[in-house]
Amino acid sequence: MSPDQAAAYLAEIAYLLRHQGDGHRARAFTRVASLLVRDRPDLEALRKANALESLEGVGSGIARTLAELVDTGRSSYLERLRLDLDKAEHAESAPFELSPLVEMGYRGDLHAHTDWSDGGASVIDMALAAQARGYEYLAITDHSPRITVVNGLGPERLAAQRRLIDQANQELNGVTILQGVEVDINEDGSLDLPDETLAALDIVIASPHVKLRMEPAAMTERMLRAVAHPHVDVIGHPTGRRPGSRAGAQYDFEAVFSCAAERGVVLEIDCDPARMDLSPELARLAASVGCRFSLDSDAHAPDQLLYVDLGIWTARRAGAGQDRIINWLRLAELKEMLE
Ligand SMILES: [Zn+2]
Ligand SMILES: [Zn+2]
Repeated sequence: MSPDQAAAYLAEIAYLLRHQGDGHRARAFTRVASLLVRDRPDLEALRKANALESLEGVGSGIARTLAELVDTGRSSYLERLRLDLDKAEHAESAPFELSPLVEMGYRGDLHAHTDWSDGGASVIDMALAAQARGYEYLAITDHSPRITVVNGLGPERLAAQRRLIDQANQELNGVTILQGVEVDINEDGSLDLPDETLAALDIVIASPHVKLRMEPAAMTERMLRAVAHPHVDVIGHPTGRRPGSRAGAQYDFEAVFSCAAERGVVLEIDCDPARMDLSPELARLAASVGCRFSLDSDAHAPDQLLYVDLGIWTARRAGAGQDRIINWLRLAELKEMLE
């Protein structure tokens, strides 16, 4: 079993543990999954040498799971967790294959933060990390001004960031930085930046962050208005949920997703392990009404770009093929789509 395959199993275990409210153990599994993707250790050799526990963060429990994965290609722990969550749907699902993301055609991440807002790294460091992963492009999508704690960007700072990104693109080789924003969806469905500012960006992600507990009819209106906005390309983490700690917004998902499909607005599968939003179930609904998806890390640091490796199983579970995921587009195709 390749480290990527094993990581996908561990990531799904972490996801299900979060649902059960066991954030502590979920984080332990996520940490090991991240390490497998990053360092690509030889699991077969470690298993033979009885040395799985020599991997950082691997105690006896995770070692048992890894050993079973190496020996049998399956995890009875994961199967038990799936059954616990939803006997009908998850027990049937076939095991999935996972090969390294870029070899599968993934070309770039469209949701990442930098130290211009609440990220921990510079634009250039994020771009270099994307390049190291073999990406063709990376969209920098820092926050809009409304949520002051994240130091969101208004029109002037966005213009300054654009100059820096243009400069960086001249110096970089092989990866292109797109300038975007993660703009807040206000309570009335309007956006937290003026239209002319949004029009100047390469990509606009509109996300709900506050007042997620609005009554469903009002929330539906709010989301429909955001989807209908002429400059919105992607709806970021469409429910705002945090499995195990915060339920997401409730609205008429079918109506909003149908409208998105009609208008060519893409729905995000935010692969941050703390979010996994859309859920596999809602992603399946979105796929059934014709939506396209963006599979993003929502990284706030370079090493978080690998969150997409940990989240891709969601798209598979939803039945969303690669032709439905815009991160498979070449840069020129993507730009044409975003125009
Ligand atoms: Zn967000
Ligand atoms: Zn974000």
